[in-house]
Amino acid sequence: MQPIQMVDLKQQYQHIKQEVDAAIHEVIDTASFINGKAVQDFSAALAGYLSAKHVIPCANGTDALQIAMMSLDLQPGDEVITPSFTYIATTEVVALLKLKPVFVDVDPKTFCIDPAAIERAITPKTKAIVPVHLYGQAADMEAIMAIADKYRLAVIEDNAQAIGSDFYFSDGHKQKTGTIGTIGCTSFFPSKNLGCYGDGGAICTNDDALADKIRKIANHGQSVRYYHDIVGCNSRLDSIQAAVLNIKLPRLDQYIDARRKAADFYDQAFAGQPKITVPFRAPNNKHVFHQYTLQLEGVDRDALNAFLAEQQVPSMIYYPVPAHRQKMFAASGAADYILPVTDWLTKRVISLPMHTELSQEQLTYICSKVLEFIK
Ligand SMILES: *Cc1c(COP(=O)(O)O)cnc(C)c1O
Repeated sequence: MQPIQMVDLKQQYQHIKQEVDAAIHEVIDTASFINGKAVQDFSAALAGYLSAKHVIPCANGTDALQIAMMSLDLQPGDEVITPSFTYIATTEVVALLKLKPVFVDVDPKTFCIDPAAIERAITPKTKAIVPVHLYGQAADMEAIMAIADKYRLAVIEDNAQAIGSDFYFSDGHKQKTGTIGTIGCTSFFPSKNLGCYGDGGAICTNDDALADKIRKIANHGQSVRYYHDIVGCNSRLDSIQAAVLNIKLPRLDQYIDARRKAADFYDQAFAGQPKITVPFRAPNNKHVFHQYTLQLEGVDRDALNAFLAEQQVPSMIYYPVPAHRQKMFAASGAADYILPVTDWLTKRVISLPMHTELSQEQLTYICSKVLEFIK
């Protein structure tokens, strides 16, 4: 049996090595390292895949969120509603821009921001909502968009973990996550569902004026070289990364299928175990399983984590400390937020290996070790 990895990028590369190597070499041969054809091709291909009007590539997912927020003309002290149960980038950029992150709780089943909690947190200073499609499951975008319309708020989707997911609206139409809100942000960090071989990110929107502004901000506030209209930053997807993504994007749906198959295997193996809650699959979206995350009840989670490590089964705690309890937010009194579901989850969740290359043999082994510990 191959050693089990949390994410096995080496094996995945072996299947696409020839194409990836050729694509990278083409960039080097043509020396079009910055904003080359590979970048243009990738933006167009991703826009096509997502059915988004505009895709603006950038340097990473954190920049994508920052640039998205910069494009909305928010004023210092304006409030941005976000979950606390997320990767720190989501909330960090809010504070970096001198906006106020307002942390709300998540739904205990989906792990995504709770729409009812959003509505309760709205004040006259609220300007935006940042739902996170955590672990590959979409937040309830239908409810969130209804709240955003009612209170005239912008919605920035943090789609770093859910690229390729579909959200199904109650009228029967579906839309890709990241294209439903005002702006969608994603990351191509290597371990993401669509990952490159370094850092990368993208912003998408269907709003022409916002797209122009976002493009400007990502490029030093200029649309004509050396004429800088607004304060921006320098955030580019480099051509070598775009070349890798051009090979991987056509395989994204197949990669998602492989993840969903691994999730099915886990679900079956853990069915009927009273101490384990397998990931909920909300009927309103397609879970793309960036992570396969269990909730444990009556099990010493950290001891399981250590036991699995001894058995050569990696497992991870995403996330051990929620944003509102991070030191970076302590001075603003964020620890006073009362977020029981978030606190509960940070103590109970554990993520098992999840990637495109998991074999039946590996899955069988992982499940047998989990069950051995919890029984
Ligand atoms: C990975 C991730 C980001 C940040 O992406 P980077 O490319 O690492 O900057 C933001 N939000 C979430 C939820 C993520 O998982």
